[in-house]
Amino acid sequence: MSFKALGLSEALLKAISKKGYDTPSPIQAKAIPPVLEGKDVLASAQTGTGKTAGFTLPLLHILSEGQTLRKRPVRALILTPTRELAAQVYANVKEYSTFLELRSAVIFGGVNQKPQIANLRNGVDVLVATPGRLLDLHGQGVLSLSKVEIFVLDEADRMLDMGFLRDIQRVIKIMPEHRQNLMFSATFSKDIKKLAHGILNHPVQVEAQPENSTVDAISQKVYRVAKGKKTGLVIKLISEGDWKQVLVFTRTKHGANKLCKKMISAGITAAAIHGNKSQGARTKALAGFKNGSVRVLVATDIAARGLDIPLLPHVINFEIPNISEDYVHRIGRTGRAGASGEAISLVSADETTYLRAIEKLVGEKIPVEIIEGFEPDPDASTEPIKQGQGRQRQQRRSNKPKQSNTEGSNRSNKSRNSRSRKPKRNNRRPNTSNNKE
Ligand code: AMP
Repeated sequence: MSFKALGLSEALLKAISKKGYDTPSPIQAKAIPPVLEGKDVLASAQTGTGKTAGFTLPLLHILSEGQTLRKRPVRALILTPTRELAAQVYANVKEYSTFLELRSAVIFGGVNQKPQIANLRNGVDVLVATPGRLLDLHGQGVLSLSKVEIFVLDEADRMLDMGFLRDIQRVIKIMPEHRQNLMFSATFSKDIKKLAHGILNHPVQVEAQPENSTVDAISQKVYRVAKGKKTGLVIKLISEGDWKQVLVFTRTKHGANKLCKKMISAGITAAAIHGNKSQGARTKALAGFKNGSVRVLVATDIAARGLDIPLLPHVINFEIPNISEDYVHRIGRTGRAGASGEAISLVSADETTYLRAIEKLVGEKIPVEIIEGFEPDPDASTEPIKQGQGRQRQQRRSNKPKQSNTEGSNRSNKSRNSRSRKPKRNNRRPNTSNNKE
């Protein structure tokens, strides 16, 4: 199968070959034809499968074949949960539209809105956006979605995890009823199916790989270890293995910062990436990680979601996630593009229940090892860490007053905020980051 056989225009084929792609990935081969036919599509695919080109290429094809309206209203909207993903998708849109007469822009929170408004005023055919800033700018009257022909909801499962359901519903209301809809999600919970039912019209369903399966090229391993010895063990593994590019997942933002500091003290270059970091710090951390100046990126699930970091050799779960599907997303960061990868999980006694749930989901027993000096604590309780403990405590702590252009769904957070402690008065700037971790 070639890209040409999929029916894409010469201008797109030229851009694809400039990118160096020879053949469509499975999700592209499956999703592009129905999208080109104008059908709604529900796709099961996670980052790393080539899903972005799967919706961007046919979308650009359709728009370039259609009529360009004089004022250039937004004709395609791509909604993503995080700023990083928005930036990545936008970069792809730019590249694929090199030889087309189409304009694109990206808008997300946490940065000055003025340049974004200026871009919108110039006229934009394809808009990539996170929900918070999109609704904010729409509320300010600087953008209209009344001419949207194609709507893409990327990483829909993460959208729901981040509490964006209400925002998605608001966005739907300000678009024309008659439009083409594409929805991408890595997992398919009941809520996702319900959302899809509400948005999509007789969708064609496509999937890149069996639902919730782990990638064969990834070797998975569990180290049973005492909770208090995890930091020492992770430092030992990275130093002795001389690992150069490691993505470490922690359950909380606070945990990410703490671990990052310990790594740096141990002489390992590390950076943390999570919702409380400024956009500048996140971009810098990611750039450092990609160019090799930062060996370890410590991330929370939400911040890491959608990051395109090719050929990642090592992923470590400092804590295993209590949502089993997150495990699949996390380890999907390694072993990409045919390269082999290693996914390691440090598991203390109180995570045993979560480990069992993960093994059930992936349908296999993950091999266990114990390292001398880092043994599990035989007296530790196997009572699971309460759902959201730490994560929510962190959230409450970080519930500072927000400004209206905050990325994230402030509306759906209201009830939780109203129960939280009164925010302390301080002279710091309001938190513009996403608190939903
Ligand atoms: P995505 O899943 O959209 O984040 O894409 C993952 C990575 O695969 C990105 O670095 C893309 O540039 C790359 N990619 C997408 N499509 C292809 C293809 N057909 N051949 C080779 N690489 C691709």
